[in-house]
Amino acid sequence: MATSYVGEARKRVAPKKQRVRPVIERLAAEHADARIALSFRSPLELLVSVMLSAQTTDVNVNRVTEKLFVKYRRPEDYLAVPQEELEQDIFATGFYRQKAKSLRGMMTMLIEEFDGEVPESFDDLLRLPGVARKTANVVSAERGNAQGIVVDTHVRRLSQRLGFTRQEDPVKIERDLMKLVPREDWARFPHLLIWHGRRICDARRPECEVCPLALDLCPSSRVR
Ligand code: SF4
Repeated sequence: MATSYVGEARKRVAPKKQRVRPVIERLAAEHADARIALSFRSPLELLVSVMLSAQTTDVNVNRVTEKLFVKYRRPEDYLAVPQEELEQDIFATGFYRQKAKSLRGMMTMLIEEFDGEVPESFDDLLRLPGVARKTANVVSAERGNAQGIVVDTHVRRLSQRLGFTRQEDPVKIERDLMKLVPREDWARFPHLLIWHGRRICDARRPECEVCPLALDLCPSSRVR
């Protein structure tokens, strides 16, 4: 039975503090290309892309922003058209009304308080309309200033399977991970888990047989 495999694997692995570095190293070797999947050329494009990626795929966002970023280059451009036009331009990302409203609020604040630039400070990012902790985390990490660890559905599942957290709530999972993961790895850690989750550790059918963590680093491994 599956549970007995897991029970055996649990006994076999070391405590999480001893496993976290080898897990990072092995995933980095396995997924050397792991990076953010959104396409952007500036902090503003990064911020907009991350904001639009809520409830949709990165591929879908890239398809939309390919045209969007030709038409909207500066914060002022998002305010120069009627809201309905912006809604149409981001329609394919879903939740387009709320996203258009947030984008316009965000651009207004960027112009009024930050000279039209995306702020560096994590707290300033969080003040922008439509920017929650996850968005601020992604933007900060991509700018080389990670202040936390991005937790999405893959990071949550993998962290639980690897025994790095028992929590369900993303904020609590992030807190557990920040205590465990070395700070210099805060930016790349979620990318490694996301790519591993997409390629090998699928939600329904994890391919433990080909997983580089299976034998000695994963307490959920089904490989003996
Ligand atoms: S694929 Fe299997 S061994 Fe690898 S991380 Fe997922 S559950 Fe663990």
